[in-house]
Amino acid sequence: MTTAEEPLAAIFARLIARTGPIGLGHYIGESNARYYASRDPLGSEGDFITAPEISQMFGELIGLWLTDMWQRAGSPAPAHYVELGPGRGTLARDALRVARRQGLAPAVHLVESSPALTALQRDAVPGATRHDDLATVPEDGPILLVANEFLDALPVRQLVRTGEGWREVMVDCRDGAFVPIAGPRPMDAAVPATWREAAEGTVLETCPGAATVVGEVARRLVAQGGAALFIDYGHTAPRTGSTLQALRAHRKVDPFAAPGEADLTTHVDFAALAAVARTQGCRWLGTVTQGDWLQALGIEARAAALATAAPDRAAVLERQKQRLVDAGEMGQLFKVMGLAAPGWPDGAGF
Ligand code: SAH
Repeated sequence: MTTAEEPLAAIFARLIARTGPIGLGHYIGESNARYYASRDPLGSEGDFITAPEISQMFGELIGLWLTDMWQRAGSPAPAHYVELGPGRGTLARDALRVARRQGLAPAVHLVESSPALTALQRDAVPGATRHDDLATVPEDGPILLVANEFLDALPVRQLVRTGEGWREVMVDCRDGAFVPIAGPRPMDAAVPATWREAAEGTVLETCPGAATVVGEVARRLVAQGGAALFIDYGHTAPRTGSTLQALRAHRKVDPFAAPGEADLTTHVDFAALAAVARTQGCRWLGTVTQGDWLQALGIEARAAALATAAPDRAAVLERQKQRLVDAGEMGQLFKVMGLAAPGWPDGAGF
């Protein structure tokens, strides 16, 4: 019998003892489902902090971007604000406040799997509709969508080049510890020709869930109109190597040490996702660094305006802005990818 209280490590150990090693994607998916379902991981008391939790400026500039796109597209109705993995609801609250001031009052749809975070979102964004996935989001008008640090939480699959060819990375349980191993089945057919002869030990990582989500968003943009922003840490050129990491109490920990107790994330492959979007006939507006994008959107002016209104907060606002845009902080590693429906305008900042 499994119960909600039984540690995930015990469930995994029993499963592996019975049926053999499990896929890495299975391990990550179950771990993060357990992790997010039970807690609020954000903020200084939690395991990690995100851009909307650092400063209201982040959500405000996203709200301005979406409103600008919608207005230049002719203000089509009924507009739907859609957010994937909204966390505490802070980004939605800040973005919608700015949008309403500019005359955009969309229906609000939050795609969220965690009961703990859904409860917080209900307070932050009254009147929003919660969805398990995109399937139930209405199709009758344009979608204005944002996903911040959502794709990085979805499970990846890894292939590793061994002396015997390519194998899937699986998770085994040895002497009570979880360890990544090379699985038994040949996987050479799943590897693109350019990588097939790579050196032994080379790891290729793919995120089928991210490709599915971005493909569905792109399909809806083409069908319904609208624009989307995907923001995450990641790379814009193909690369090899594992990017799997775990964060607990703001420190990196071993991803295999305590499944379900730390946030497991990977870097987002933005090059692959742009290709997926274009395959659907969607416009890829570009993928730029978070620092450049926020600067182009006017974060300096926004910080100055807020500091004028509250002079005693000037130093704090300056520090928040630096955390969001400086290359040594979030400015360089984090990327912003913009998508839009055919016929919609080019986005500011791309
Ligand atoms: N966007 C927020 C939170 C980021 S944390 C912020 O920037 O602060 C990741 C979010 O995605 C959480 O809300 C988590 O519960 C949600 N999430 C993770 N996997 C999910 C899935 N498969 N389906 C829906 N939501 C998911």
